[in-house]
Amino acid sequence: MSQQDHIYRYLFAQHAVRGELVNVSDTWRAIIEGHDYPQPVQALLGELLVATSLLTATLKFDGDITVQLQGDGPLTLAVINGNHQQEMRGIARMQGEIAEGSSLKEMVGNGYLVITISPSKGERYQGVVGLEGDTLAACLEDYFLRSEQLPTRIWLRTSFTHPGAAGILLQVLPASHSDRNEFEHLATLTETIKTDELLSLSATDVMWRLYHEEEVTVYDPQPVVYRCTCSRERCGEVLKTLPQQEVDDIIAEDGEIDMHCDYCGTHYVYDAVDIAAIRNAASASDNQVH
Ligand SMILES: [Zn+2]
Repeated sequence: MSQQDHIYRYLFAQHAVRGELVNVSDTWRAIIEGHDYPQPVQALLGELLVATSLLTATLKFDGDITVQLQGDGPLTLAVINGNHQQEMRGIARMQGEIAEGSSLKEMVGNGYLVITISPSKGERYQGVVGLEGDTLAACLEDYFLRSEQLPTRIWLRTSFTHPGAAGILLQVLPASHSDRNEFEHLATLTETIKTDELLSLSATDVMWRLYHEEEVTVYDPQPVVYRCTCSRERCGEVLKTLPQQEVDDIIAEDGEIDMHCDYCGTHYVYDAVDIAAIRNAASASDNQVH
C-alpha cells in the first residue's frame, strides 16, 4: 500500500498540549535506496528522518533543520536535513563493519547528537547533546528539555516487516500552564500505539484509536517529500567561502573546479568565467550594502 507521506498537527484544546503524527515511509525508501546500508543503519536513518520531520514541523519560521549523529564508532555520520516545506534528504557514512542488531551506541560509539536550525533569514542555532540515552528518541527528549525547557515525548518507529517509518511528538505548549499529570496521561495513551498500527492505520484511525475520549483538533496535513534542495546557485555560495587563492590554484591547474552535493552526489562544475561571475555578483551586492 503506497499512500503519500504526510505530517498531521493536532491540539488537545483542554490540556494545552500539541501533537504531531507523521508517516515518512516513501521518503525513507527514497533516502536509503541505491545505498548499501546495513539494516541497523537503514533503521537509524528512518528514525532520524521521522525526528527531523517532527522537529521541522515545530518551526515558527521558514528555514531548515539538520539532525546529525557523529562519533568515533563504525558509523561516522548519519544526517537528515529537512525544511519547513517538509523536503527531506539524508546520508550515512561508515568506516567499519556494522553487525546485524547493532545498538545506537555500538554504531555511533562516543558521539553526539547535533541539531542545527537555520532560519532562511537570521542566525543559525546549534544544539549539541551527548548520546546519554539508549535511543534517539530519548536523546531528543533530553535536547528539548535542555534547549526549550518544554516537556516533550517522541516516538520513532521503523519496521522491515511492514516496511515503513512513522512517529509521534507530544509537547506542552510554550508559556502554558499545562498540568504535568495531564501531559503524562496523554503520553501514556500515546505509548499504547503498536508499530504496525502506526504504519498501517490511517491518521484518522490512529487518532481515534489513541484519543477517542479526548477533544482533539486535527489540522490539514502537510505532504512530506524526498528532495535534495541543492542547486548550482547554492553551491556557488559555498564556493565563495573558500580561500580565493586555493580556488585560483585549482582553476590554473585543472581549468575548472568540481563541487558536489554530499546528499545526492550531483556535481556542479565551475570554470574561470563562472568563478569571475560569482565574485562580481558578490562584490556588487557588497556595494549595495555600503
Ligand atoms: Zn543535492
